[in-house]
Amino acid sequence: MAYSKEDVKRVVDEFQAKRKRVWDERDAHVAEIRTMLPAAYELETEINRAGPRMYEAALRGEGEAAFEKIKEKTVENTEKLRALLKENGYPENYLDVNYECALCSDTGYCGIEMCSCMKEALAKAGFESSGLSNLARTQSFETFDLSFYEGRDRERIAKNVQLLRDFAENFDSKIGCNWLLFGATGLGKTHLSTSVAATVINSGHSVVYESVGQVISVYEEKRFGGNYASERDRKYTECELLIIDDLGTEVTNQFTISCLYSLINERIVKNLSTIINTNLGQGEIRERYTDRIASRLFGEYMPLGFSGRDVRQQKIERQFG
Ligand SMILES: [Zn+2]
Repeated sequence: MAYSKEDVKRVVDEFQAKRKRVWDERDAHVAEIRTMLPAAYELETEINRAGPRMYEAALRGEGEAAFEKIKEKTVENTEKLRALLKENGYPENYLDVNYECALCSDTGYCGIEMCSCMKEALAKAGFESSGLSNLARTQSFETFDLSFYEGRDRERIAKNVQLLRDFAENFDSKIGCNWLLFGATGLGKTHLSTSVAATVINSGHSVVYESVGQVISVYEEKRFGGNYASERDRKYTECELLIIDDLGTEVTNQFTISCLYSLINERIVKNLSTIINTNLGQGEIRERYTDRIASRLFGEYMPLGFSGRDVRQQKIERQFG
């Protein structure tokens, strides 16, 4: 588990704001009742005194009987208060603190265990900061349809699915695994890599999913100055899984090649996992990028080939054919 620091900060801030919001709302209700329904306000004040009364009783050395009496009185007062509120057209729980999560009272923790609501919020934050589109959230290994592939293509793709699924479901940030997904467009590379991303994010790891063009533009911003930009490129070298989509679609020049080389190299040195999708073949990769990059990709990445007929085209045919 390693949520990114930024995501954790954002979620913790959200939870604090949420708690403040429900308490502010409750305080406003109490203030309103104080003017509009003084009898209810008195009951509420009485209920709130139960805690201090118990404490005083304990200090005086009074026993169980005294505690029971205070508890009984509080239950009675609470019932009276609810009835009174209802009679006067207010919701029964108008003076309660209405937390969104009853399990953790919006603290995000149940004892020392993280509450399921906070885990969910962190996964959501992970999706938002990963760069994955909303659409991609619906893509999963389950929705990957092998019936679009035939014969040897199907065997090959089925093997790719199995390998990537194993990798995603048993993701270990201490074991660097690199995958090069190559083949023509429309053969499922994006679908499979977003499925990997979603699975890994849901198990609490930091993932960045971006096209090569987006990655390069961040490095370009950095090159032309700006502190903001210098922070933004850190995610590429720090996230536990980086997925670079569409390698080969960017404008290639010395600058972009050197950015890509240092990024690919740094992640290998740090033992961090990376997936690269490309429409280029081996020869094209060698030709387009330097030998340094080619030898990294062919030496350190597991190549997974994608073949068959364009799935998007087939979907259109199935729908209209
Ligand atoms: Zn909770």
